[in-house]
Amino acid sequence: MKIAFFDTKSYDKASFEELGLRNGIDFKFYETKLNEDTVRLANGFDGVCIFVNDTANKAVVDALYEYGVKIIILRCAGFNNVDLKATEGKIMVVRVPAYSPYAVAEHTMALILTSVRRIHKAFVRTKSFNFSLNDLTGFDLYEKTVGVIGTGKIGKIFINICKGFGMKVLAYDKYPDKNADIEYVELDELFKKSDIISLHCPLTDETYHIIDKGSIEKMKRGVLIVNTSRGALIDADALLDGIKARKVGGACLDVYEEESDFFFEDYSSHIVEDDVLARLISMPNVLVTSHQAFLTEEALANIAQTSIENTLEFFKTGKCKNEVASHE
Ligand code: NAD
Repeated sequence: MKIAFFDTKSYDKASFEELGLRNGIDFKFYETKLNEDTVRLANGFDGVCIFVNDTANKAVVDALYEYGVKIIILRCAGFNNVDLKATEGKIMVVRVPAYSPYAVAEHTMALILTSVRRIHKAFVRTKSFNFSLNDLTGFDLYEKTVGVIGTGKIGKIFINICKGFGMKVLAYDKYPDKNADIEYVELDELFKKSDIISLHCPLTDETYHIIDKGSIEKMKRGVLIVNTSRGALIDADALLDGIKARKVGGACLDVYEEESDFFFEDYSSHIVEDDVLARLISMPNVLVTSHQAFLTEEALANIAQTSIENTLEFFKTGKCKNEVASHE
Protein backbone atom coordinates (compact mmCIF):
# COMPACT_ATOMS: atom_id res chain seq x y z
CA MET A 1 0.00 0.00 0.00
CA LYS A 2 1.33 3.40 -0.98
CA ILE A 3 0.13 6.35 1.07
CA ALA A 4 0.90 10.04 0.38
CA PHE A 5 1.45 11.75 3.76
CA PHE A 6 0.81 15.51 3.76
CA ASP A 7 1.90 18.30 6.14
CA THR A 8 4.67 16.10 7.55
CA LYS A 9 6.54 17.24 10.66
CA SER A 10 9.65 15.47 11.97
CA TYR A 11 7.67 13.89 14.82
CA ASP A 12 5.12 12.45 12.34
CA LYS A 13 7.84 10.79 10.30
CA ALA A 14 9.40 9.33 13.44
CA SER A 15 6.15 7.74 14.58
CA PHE A 16 4.76 6.57 11.21
CA GLU A 17 7.67 5.53 8.96
CA GLU A 18 8.97 2.38 10.65
CA LEU A 19 5.58 1.21 11.92
CA GLY A 20 4.25 1.61 8.38
CA LEU A 21 7.04 -0.43 6.80
CA ARG A 22 6.54 -3.21 9.37
CA ASN A 23 2.89 -3.37 8.29
CA GLY A 24 3.48 -3.23 4.54
CA ILE A 25 2.58 0.45 4.19
CA ASP A 26 4.94 2.66 2.23
CA PHE A 27 4.50 6.31 3.23
CA LYS A 28 5.72 9.09 0.92
CA PHE A 29 6.23 12.10 3.23
CA TYR A 30 5.42 15.54 1.83
CA GLU A 31 6.02 18.67 3.91
CA THR A 32 3.42 20.58 1.92
CA LYS A 33 -0.23 20.64 2.95
CA LEU A 34 -2.88 18.95 0.82
CA ASN A 35 -4.91 21.44 -1.22
CA GLU A 36 -5.98 22.10 -4.80
CA ASP A 37 -2.44 23.07 -5.82
CA THR A 38 -0.73 20.04 -4.29
CA VAL A 39 -3.30 17.29 -4.84
CA ARG A 40 -1.48 16.03 -7.95
CA LEU A 41 1.23 14.73 -5.61
CA ALA A 42 -1.28 12.03 -4.61
CA ASN A 43 -1.48 10.64 -8.16
CA GLY A 44 -0.62 6.94 -8.13
CA PHE A 45 -1.16 6.47 -4.38
CA ASP A 46 -3.73 4.20 -2.71
CA GLY A 47 -4.47 6.69 0.05
CA VAL A 48 -3.62 10.06 1.58
CA CYS A 49 -2.86 10.74 5.24
CA ILE A 50 -3.77 14.27 6.37
CA PHE A 51 -3.96 16.49 9.47
CA VAL A 52 -6.05 19.42 10.75
CA ASN A 53 -4.83 22.11 8.35
CA ASP A 54 -4.93 20.05 5.13
CA THR A 55 -7.85 20.72 2.79
CA ALA A 56 -10.02 17.99 1.30
CA ASN A 57 -12.75 20.10 -0.31
CA LYS A 58 -14.81 18.97 -3.29
CA ALA A 59 -12.19 19.89 -5.88
CA VAL A 60 -9.48 18.02 -3.96
CA VAL A 61 -11.71 14.99 -3.34
CA ASP A 62 -12.73 14.82 -7.03
CA ALA A 63 -9.07 14.93 -8.06
CA LEU A 64 -8.14 12.24 -5.52
CA TYR A 65 -10.90 10.02 -6.86
CA GLU A 66 -9.72 10.54 -10.42
CA TYR A 67 -6.19 9.54 -9.35
CA GLY A 68 -7.53 6.28 -7.86
CA VAL A 69 -7.06 7.24 -4.19
CA LYS A 70 -9.35 5.02 -2.11
CA ILE A 71 -8.94 6.31 1.43
CA ILE A 72 -8.38 9.58 3.32
CA ILE A 73 -6.67 8.77 6.61
CA LEU A 74 -7.15 11.60 9.09
CA ARG A 75 -4.46 11.41 11.76
CA CYS A 76 -6.63 13.48 14.13
CA ALA A 77 -10.12 13.39 15.64
CA GLY A 78 -11.66 16.40 13.86
CA PHE A 79 -12.86 16.14 10.26
CA ASN A 80 -14.24 19.63 9.51
CA ASN A 81 -11.62 19.97 6.73
CA VAL A 82 -13.08 17.10 4.64
CA ASP A 83 -16.10 17.51 2.35
CA LEU A 84 -17.97 14.37 3.38
CA LYS A 85 -20.67 14.88 0.75
CA ALA A 86 -18.00 14.78 -1.93
CA THR A 87 -16.36 11.62 -0.56
CA GLU A 88 -19.64 9.70 -0.14
CA GLY A 89 -19.65 6.51 -2.20
CA LYS A 90 -16.23 7.36 -3.63
CA ILE A 91 -13.52 7.57 -0.98
CA MET A 92 -13.42 6.11 2.56
CA VAL A 93 -12.64 8.66 5.32
CA VAL A 94 -11.22 7.39 8.63
CA ARG A 95 -9.99 9.17 11.76
CA VAL A 96 -8.43 8.68 15.20
CA PRO A 97 -11.31 9.35 17.63
CA ALA A 98 -9.12 9.51 20.78
CA TYR A 99 -5.38 9.34 21.29
CA SER A 100 -4.45 10.61 24.75
CA PRO A 101 -6.87 12.56 26.92
CA TYR A 102 -4.11 12.53 29.60
CA ALA A 103 -1.81 14.53 27.29
CA VAL A 104 -4.33 17.37 26.99
CA ALA A 105 -5.43 17.34 30.65
CA GLU A 106 -1.81 17.35 31.88
CA HIS A 107 -0.86 20.17 29.50
CA THR A 108 -3.79 22.17 30.88
CA MET A 109 -2.44 21.85 34.42
CA ALA A 110 1.11 22.60 33.15
CA LEU A 111 -0.16 25.89 31.70
CA ILE A 112 -2.01 26.77 34.91
CA LEU A 113 1.01 26.07 37.13
CA THR A 114 3.33 27.95 34.79
CA SER A 115 1.05 30.97 34.76
CA VAL A 116 0.12 31.00 38.45
CA ARG A 117 3.69 30.45 39.70
CA ARG A 118 5.31 32.64 36.96
CA ILE A 119 7.63 29.80 35.90
CA HIS A 120 7.93 31.25 32.38
CA LYS A 121 9.32 34.48 33.82
CA ALA A 122 11.65 32.75 36.26
CA PHE A 123 13.06 30.57 33.47
CA VAL A 124 13.97 33.58 31.35
CA ARG A 125 15.33 35.52 34.34
CA THR A 126 17.63 32.86 35.74
CA LYS A 127 19.04 32.15 32.24
CA SER A 128 20.61 35.60 32.48
CA PHE A 129 21.53 35.17 36.16
CA ASN A 130 18.77 37.50 37.32
CA PHE A 131 17.74 35.95 40.64
CA SER A 132 15.32 38.68 41.70
CA LEU A 133 11.89 37.57 42.99
CA ASN A 134 10.13 40.84 42.22
CA ASP A 135 6.74 40.33 40.47
CA LEU A 136 6.96 36.54 40.76
CA THR A 137 4.38 36.22 43.56
CA GLY A 138 1.83 33.54 42.70
CA PHE A 139 -1.08 32.00 44.58
CA ASP A 140 -1.86 28.58 46.05
CA LEU A 141 -4.15 26.34 43.98
CA TYR A 142 -5.17 24.58 47.20
CA GLU A 143 -8.80 25.42 48.07
CA LYS A 144 -9.24 27.61 44.98
CA THR A 145 -12.31 26.98 42.80
CA VAL A 146 -11.86 25.71 39.27
CA GLY A 147 -14.80 25.80 36.86
CA VAL A 148 -14.66 23.06 34.22
CA ILE A 149 -16.82 23.41 31.11
CA GLY A 150 -17.17 20.00 29.42
CA THR A 151 -16.73 16.85 31.50
CA GLY A 152 -15.94 14.27 28.81
CA LYS A 153 -12.72 12.26 28.57
CA ILE A 154 -10.33 15.21 28.98
CA GLY A 155 -12.49 17.23 31.39
CA LYS A 156 -12.83 14.28 33.80
CA ILE A 157 -9.08 13.60 33.90
CA PHE A 158 -8.43 17.31 34.44
CA ILE A 159 -10.96 17.35 37.30
CA ASN A 160 -9.12 14.47 39.00
CA ILE A 161 -5.83 16.33 38.64
CA CYS A 162 -7.42 19.43 40.23
CA LYS A 163 -8.85 17.38 43.09
CA GLY A 164 -5.33 16.06 43.69
CA PHE A 165 -4.28 19.67 44.29
CA GLY A 166 -7.05 20.10 46.87
CA MET A 167 -9.06 22.40 44.62
CA LYS A 168 -12.82 22.79 44.71
CA VAL A 169 -14.30 21.79 41.36
CA LEU A 170 -17.50 23.14 39.81
CA ALA A 171 -18.54 21.83 36.42
CA TYR A 172 -20.95 22.53 33.61
CA ASP A 173 -21.86 20.07 30.86
CA LYS A 174 -24.83 20.07 28.53
CA TYR A 175 -25.03 16.33 29.18
CA PRO A 176 -23.93 15.90 32.83
CA ASP A 177 -22.60 12.48 33.84
CA LYS A 178 -24.90 11.51 36.69
CA ASN A 179 -22.63 8.63 37.74
CA ALA A 180 -19.56 10.82 38.16
CA ASP A 181 -18.52 12.38 41.47
CA ILE A 182 -18.75 15.90 40.02
CA GLU A 183 -20.61 18.95 41.31
CA TYR A 184 -22.55 20.31 38.34
CA VAL A 185 -23.82 23.90 38.38
CA GLU A 186 -25.38 26.25 35.85
CA LEU A 187 -22.98 28.17 33.65
CA ASP A 188 -23.70 31.51 35.34
CA GLU A 189 -22.86 30.11 38.78
CA LEU A 190 -19.65 28.61 37.40
CA PHE A 191 -18.68 32.00 35.91
CA LYS A 192 -19.48 33.77 39.19
CA LYS A 193 -17.64 31.46 41.58
CA SER A 194 -14.56 30.22 39.72
CA ASP A 195 -11.02 31.47 40.28
CA ILE A 196 -9.92 29.49 37.22
CA ILE A 197 -12.12 28.50 34.26
CA SER A 198 -10.99 25.70 31.94
CA LEU A 199 -12.69 24.76 28.66
CA HIS A 200 -13.05 21.09 27.65
CA CYS A 201 -16.19 21.06 25.50
CA PRO A 202 -16.27 20.69 21.70
CA LEU A 203 -16.77 23.64 19.36
CA THR A 204 -20.38 23.65 18.19
CA ASP A 205 -22.89 26.35 17.24
CA GLU A 206 -23.91 26.40 20.92
CA THR A 207 -20.42 26.68 22.38
CA TYR A 208 -19.08 29.20 19.83
CA HIS A 209 -17.85 32.20 21.89
CA ILE A 210 -19.07 30.62 25.14
CA ILE A 211 -16.55 33.04 26.65
CA ASP A 212 -17.54 36.48 25.42
CA LYS A 213 -18.06 40.01 26.77
CA GLY A 214 -21.23 38.98 28.64
CA SER A 215 -19.75 35.92 30.31
CA ILE A 216 -16.55 37.77 31.26
CA GLU A 217 -18.68 40.41 32.99
CA LYS A 218 -20.14 37.65 35.20
CA MET A 219 -16.71 36.35 36.27
CA LYS A 220 -14.65 37.09 39.38
CA ARG A 221 -12.15 39.90 39.07
CA GLY A 222 -8.73 38.33 38.38
CA VAL A 223 -10.10 35.09 36.91
CA LEU A 224 -7.65 32.88 34.98
CA ILE A 225 -9.16 31.60 31.71
CA VAL A 226 -7.69 28.43 30.20
CA ASN A 227 -8.46 27.04 26.74
CA THR A 228 -6.95 23.78 25.51
CA SER A 229 -10.06 22.85 23.53
CA ARG A 230 -10.88 24.90 20.42
CA GLY A 231 -10.00 28.55 19.72
CA ALA A 232 -13.44 29.82 18.78
CA LEU A 233 -14.86 28.92 22.20
CA ILE A 234 -13.41 32.30 23.21
CA ASP A 235 -14.14 35.65 21.60
CA ALA A 236 -10.51 36.76 21.45
CA ASP A 237 -11.41 40.47 21.20
CA ALA A 238 -13.54 40.23 24.36
CA LEU A 239 -10.73 38.37 26.15
CA LEU A 240 -8.26 41.10 25.20
CA ASP A 241 -10.67 43.78 26.44
CA GLY A 242 -11.14 41.85 29.71
CA ILE A 243 -7.39 41.68 30.22
CA LYS A 244 -6.91 45.38 29.42
CA ALA A 245 -9.67 46.24 31.93
CA ARG A 246 -7.84 44.10 34.58
CA LYS A 247 -11.02 42.05 34.93
CA VAL A 248 -9.32 38.92 33.57
CA GLY A 249 -6.21 38.17 35.61
CA GLY A 250 -4.61 35.87 33.05
CA ALA A 251 -5.16 33.56 30.10
CA CYS A 252 -3.57 30.27 29.07
CA LEU A 253 -4.28 29.49 25.44
CA ASP A 254 -3.25 26.36 23.58
CA VAL A 255 -5.74 27.20 20.85
CA TYR A 256 -6.73 30.46 19.19
CA GLU A 257 -9.62 31.46 16.96
CA GLU A 258 -7.49 32.19 13.92
CA GLU A 259 -4.76 29.66 14.67
CA SER A 260 -4.78 27.93 11.27
CA ASP A 261 -3.05 31.01 9.81
CA PHE A 262 -0.09 30.60 12.20
CA PHE A 263 0.08 27.54 14.42
CA PHE A 264 2.51 24.71 13.59
CA GLU A 265 4.73 27.09 11.53
CA ASP A 266 7.71 29.34 12.33
CA TYR A 267 6.78 33.01 11.89
CA SER A 268 9.66 34.36 13.96
CA SER A 269 11.08 36.34 11.00
CA HIS A 270 7.71 37.69 9.85
CA ILE A 271 5.57 40.68 10.73
CA VAL A 272 2.49 39.07 12.27
CA GLU A 273 -0.62 40.67 10.79
CA ASP A 274 -3.06 39.50 13.48
CA ASP A 275 -3.16 42.43 15.92
CA VAL A 276 -5.28 40.59 18.50
CA LEU A 277 -2.89 37.63 18.64
CA ALA A 278 0.12 39.96 18.77
CA ARG A 279 -1.42 42.03 21.59
CA LEU A 280 -2.45 38.92 23.56
CA ILE A 281 1.07 37.49 23.26
CA SER A 282 2.53 40.82 24.40
CA MET A 283 0.60 40.64 27.69
CA PRO A 284 2.65 39.55 30.72
CA ASN A 285 -0.27 37.44 32.00
CA VAL A 286 -1.00 35.54 28.77
CA LEU A 287 0.64 32.22 27.94
CA VAL A 288 0.27 30.81 24.44
CA THR A 289 1.27 27.35 23.26
CA SER A 290 0.59 26.46 19.64
CA HIS A 291 -1.96 23.63 19.80
CA GLN A 292 0.62 21.53 21.57
CA ALA A 293 -1.51 19.91 24.27
CA PHE A 294 -1.81 16.60 22.40
CA LEU A 295 1.92 16.38 21.66
CA THR A 296 3.28 13.54 23.79
CA GLU A 297 5.15 10.40 22.77
CA GLU A 298 2.19 8.33 23.90
CA ALA A 299 -0.35 10.32 21.89
CA LEU A 300 1.84 10.28 18.76
CA ALA A 301 2.29 6.51 19.10
CA ASN A 302 -1.50 6.04 19.49
CA ILE A 303 -2.18 8.27 16.47
CA ALA A 304 0.24 6.27 14.30
CA GLN A 305 -1.00 2.89 15.60
CA THR A 306 -4.70 3.71 15.06
CA SER A 307 -4.09 5.28 11.63
CA ILE A 308 -2.21 2.19 10.48
CA GLU A 309 -4.85 -0.17 11.92
CA ASN A 310 -7.54 1.90 10.15
CA THR A 311 -5.65 1.57 6.85
CA LEU A 312 -5.07 -2.18 7.18
CA GLU A 313 -8.70 -2.81 8.19
CA PHE A 314 -9.98 -0.89 5.19
CA PHE A 315 -7.74 -2.60 2.63
CA LYS A 316 -8.55 -6.03 4.12
CA THR A 317 -12.32 -5.72 4.61
CA GLY A 318 -13.45 -2.62 2.71
CA LYS A 319 -14.76 -1.26 6.03
CA CYS A 320 -13.37 0.51 9.10
CA LYS A 321 -14.73 0.94 12.61
CA ASN A 322 -13.32 4.49 12.66
CA GLU A 323 -15.01 5.53 9.43
CA VAL A 324 -16.32 9.10 9.45
CA ALA A 325 -19.87 8.85 8.15
CA SER A 326 -21.30 11.77 6.17
CA HIS A 327 -24.02 12.35 8.79
CA GLU A 328 -21.49 12.91 11.67
P1 NAD B 1 -15.47 14.35 24.80
O1 NAD B 1 -16.39 14.20 23.65
O2 NAD B 1 -15.06 13.15 25.56
O3 NAD B 1 -16.08 15.42 25.86
C1 NAD B 1 -16.71 16.60 25.49
C2 NAD B 1 -17.72 16.97 26.58
O4 NAD B 1 -18.31 18.22 26.24
C3 NAD B 1 -18.85 15.95 26.72
O5 NAD B 1 -19.04 15.58 28.08
C4 NAD B 1 -20.07 16.70 26.19
O6 NAD B 1 -21.29 16.33 26.84
C5 NAD B 1 -19.69 18.14 26.52
N1 NAD B 1 -20.48 19.10 25.76
C6 NAD B 1 -21.03 18.98 24.54
N2 NAD B 1 -21.72 20.08 24.22
C7 NAD B 1 -21.58 20.93 25.26
C8 NAD B 1 -22.07 22.23 25.53
N3 NAD B 1 -22.86 22.89 24.66
N4 NAD B 1 -21.74 22.81 26.72
C9 NAD B 1 -20.98 22.15 27.62
N5 NAD B 1 -20.49 20.91 27.42
C10 NAD B 1 -20.80 20.31 26.25
O7 NAD B 1 -14.20 15.11 24.21
P2 NAD B 1 -12.71 15.15 24.81
O8 NAD B 1 -11.93 14.03 24.24
O9 NAD B 1 -12.78 15.32 26.27
O10 NAD B 1 -12.17 16.47 24.13
C11 NAD B 1 -12.66 17.75 24.50
C12 NAD B 1 -12.16 18.77 23.50
O11 NAD B 1 -10.74 18.88 23.61
C13 NAD B 1 -12.39 18.39 22.02
O12 NAD B 1 -13.66 18.82 21.59
C14 NAD B 1 -11.29 19.12 21.31
O13 NAD B 1 -11.81 20.35 20.86
C15 NAD B 1 -10.23 19.37 22.37
N6 NAD B 1 -8.94 18.74 22.07
C16 NAD B 1 -7.84 19.54 22.07
C17 NAD B 1 -6.58 19.00 21.82
C18 NAD B 1 -5.34 19.86 21.84
O14 NAD B 1 -4.27 19.40 21.41
N7 NAD B 1 -5.40 21.09 22.33
C19 NAD B 1 -6.46 17.62 21.56
C20 NAD B 1 -7.61 16.83 21.60
C21 NAD B 1 -8.85 17.40 21.85
